[in-house]
Amino acid sequence: MNIDLNTVLIVNVVNVMVLALTVPLMMGQKLSIAARSARLALIVNALGWICMIASNNWPEQWQDHVLSTFAVTGYSVSNWLYFRGVAGWLGPRPLARSMLALTFLIPVVYAALFPSYALRVGWSNFMLAAQMLIIARAAVFPAHEAPRNWRWVVVLASASAGIFTIGRGILGAFTDLYPSFLTPHPWNIAAMISTNVSLLLLNFALLIAWRQEAELALRQLSVTDPLTGVHNRRGWYEVAAPLIAQTNRLDQPLALLMLDLDHFKQINDAHGHSVGDQALQLMGRVLSQGRRGSDVVARLGGEEFAVLLPMADQAAAQNLDQRLRSLLTDMAPSTLPCAVNFSSGLAMLRRPGETLEQLMNRADAALYAAKHSGRGQIAISD
Ligand code: GH3
Ligand code: MG
Ligand code: MG
Repeated sequence: MNIDLNTVLIVNVVNVMVLALTVPLMMGQKLSIAARSARLALIVNALGWICMIASNNWPEQWQDHVLSTFAVTGYSVSNWLYFRGVAGWLGPRPLARSMLALTFLIPVVYAALFPSYALRVGWSNFMLAAQMLIIARAAVFPAHEAPRNWRWVVVLASASAGIFTIGRGILGAFTDLYPSFLTPHPWNIAAMISTNVSLLLLNFALLIAWRQEAELALRQLSVTDPLTGVHNRRGWYEVAAPLIAQTNRLDQPLALLMLDLDHFKQINDAHGHSVGDQALQLMGRVLSQGRRGSDVVARLGGEEFAVLLPMADQAAAQNLDQRLRSLLTDMAPSTLPCAVNFSSGLAMLRRPGETLEQLMNRADAALYAAKHSGRGQIAISD
């Protein structure tokens, strides 16, 4: 088999350049930090390859030195940017500091070691490989709850590139088989081809991650009430229904508190619709602050809210009601030109087998009773 490495290198660079130039055009301007980082990684990587080709074709020694240091800088910065992209999509990843330290150290030490071929090739390949393996690890651990299958493509591409790069480091540092970047050693040819494939895969992963990001954002919008930021009705049913089913199975207590602002129409009429909106937003903040981490809060419509309290007995639910009342009393004066109060209805899940619908009907009936007993109070379904 007779493979011309120069051709492989040029095809590689053309591929990366075309992607680096077209992906930004396709992705447009409104990007998350994660997508921006991953996209920039591609561009910087392409610049690294251009410097590497130039360094090989430049006659003078000092330019070779400078250009190949630029190339190595491009690779290490590109790895760091891709890592940032993965961290942006999956949440904080381990070894972020090592990644940043390597990004600075790789080119600086490379430049210092330049006079020794074995040292500079060993150093740069081993350390770039370390970065790639950190990216691969970042795509696996810690696991993410949402299914994001692009992670496995990142693992495959980064780990294989890392392994080939380690091989190059071994050849360059410990043998005479790899005297130049373009040596047609079988491992070097395989490494070059695998680099090409890895870069293509990393690009596909970037596009899929970006698409899933948009999908998740849309999904989030569809279950969130835009005014208060708590769940809307759709979000409520999505979360509450499985919680009821689970509670019925596990034989745990569960409470439902329904709340309705008192004389809300009068607030609108007396102070305007925007003050009414502010009152609803305040109620959203009160509920978000007052609830426990596992409680589910939703705005079911108009000025009616619901809180589902898993593993809470009646006393715990009454405590929450009390806490919400004092939070509202504390926070209202600085936000609203008028007082605001609410009535609430509490129902405990009847096990086994009560449905969400039945539980909500009972809490609603209790709320109705609280309104009739003079408002500003809680009533409990028996
Ligand atoms: P009660 O004490 O019996 O609950 O009386 P109320 O006035 O609070 O109840 P009613 O159902 O008569 O009125 C609810 C009002 O809430 C009517 C509606 O215009 C207003 N409303 C519903 N959604 C919004 C909203 O998003 N923003 C504002 N500002 N008002 C809203
Ligand atoms: Mg009302
Ligand atoms: Mg109402």
